[in-house]
Amino acid sequence: MPWYKRLRWRLIASQFVVAFVGVAIMMLATRLIILSTAPNVIRPHLTALLENPRLITDTEFTLIYSFRNAVLASVSVAAIGAILAGVFSSYMLWRTLIVPLREMADSSRRIADGRYNERVEVPENTGVAMAQLVVNFNEMAEALERVEQQRVALLSNISHELRTPLTGLKGYLEGLQDGLFSNNEETYAWMVQEVDRLNRLVEDIQNLSRVEAGQVTLNIQSFDVTEVAQRVLAQMAPQAKAQSITLAAEVPDLAVTVSADPDRTAQVLINLMSNSLRYTPENGRITIRIRQNGQQATVAVEDTGKGIPAEALPYLFERFYRVDQSRARNSGGSGIGLAISRHLVWAMGGEITAVSDGPGQGSTFTFNLPLQQ
Ligand code: ADP
Repeated sequence: MPWYKRLRWRLIASQFVVAFVGVAIMMLATRLIILSTAPNVIRPHLTALLENPRLITDTEFTLIYSFRNAVLASVSVAAIGAILAGVFSSYMLWRTLIVPLREMADSSRRIADGRYNERVEVPENTGVAMAQLVVNFNEMAEALERVEQQRVALLSNISHELRTPLTGLKGYLEGLQDGLFSNNEETYAWMVQEVDRLNRLVEDIQNLSRVEAGQVTLNIQSFDVTEVAQRVLAQMAPQAKAQSITLAAEVPDLAVTVSADPDRTAQVLINLMSNSLRYTPENGRITIRIRQNGQQATVAVEDTGKGIPAEALPYLFERFYRVDQSRARNSGGSGIGLAISRHLVWAMGGEITAVSDGPGQGSTFTFNLPLQQ
């Protein structure tokens, strides 16, 4: 957009036009009025004065009076011109400033009433500043709409997730009532399992809401991330052995000292390892690989499991997202673990990503943490 279309220059120009028109008309009117009236007004008095010099006082008064009238007339014409110019420039400013501002005010009131699909048309010819303001306003409305949609989706997800164990529990209770299930330890164990699942879900949701609200207090300190990884591997070893999965570590010989929260780092690693164990069949392999990369340490968990289709990769870290809805629910996953992990990694100043060559090709989850300076 050229400079003369910018709001700043338009404001200056509109003031300038009013002043310029006023001055120009005054100069023109003074010239015309005084030049056209002067000979007719002044000459007879000067002639009379030549004939009778005693008339000087009367002549002086008449001349001053005529001069005053001429100035008054030209100032009046200039004032009318300036007023017209002022009205015109005010109209232009009203179109440029007031109209889009009023539209935004009306629109924001409708947004406040819950109509999040409100947008204001980006005005043309109003300058960059106003157009940018409207664009930003629309972006804000869009973000609010997105948050609202997420909120609605979250509520529906939560109720959906809660329904699964509750339905299971109700089934057992009704079965007991109808004598379909016998009143024995096995039935109660199944019921306890459903309650555990419910508990886990509520705990997950609580943890997620805490990390999303930034309410997790981090205990940032310098520590060797390879040591944490070895500890997590040891912790996971019995489960891996039970599933005939080999665990491996590829870490540098020297310590990789990062500046982060060791417990939260372990939590992220445990989550990634649990996922790998959950989605890797027997005789598979899970490797933790740690590297130093510039100012960062990268920690990768690689498995030879079921892999992830390319179209699912962008959504993995969204809450409640599962690649395979039915299977994952049966295996106990709620789709929250990766969302929590991402927030924890973000809070520690890192990023987390997932790559996979596709179904059956295994997956690699990588996160980085800042190295100790
Ligand atoms: P869940 O509790 O369901 O595992 P997550 O947020 O941890 O939830 O993971 C989300 C989804 O990502 C999982 O349901 C699964 O479909 C997919 N996923 C996560 N890790 C792996 C992995 N190592 N291999 C294959 N798929 C995975």
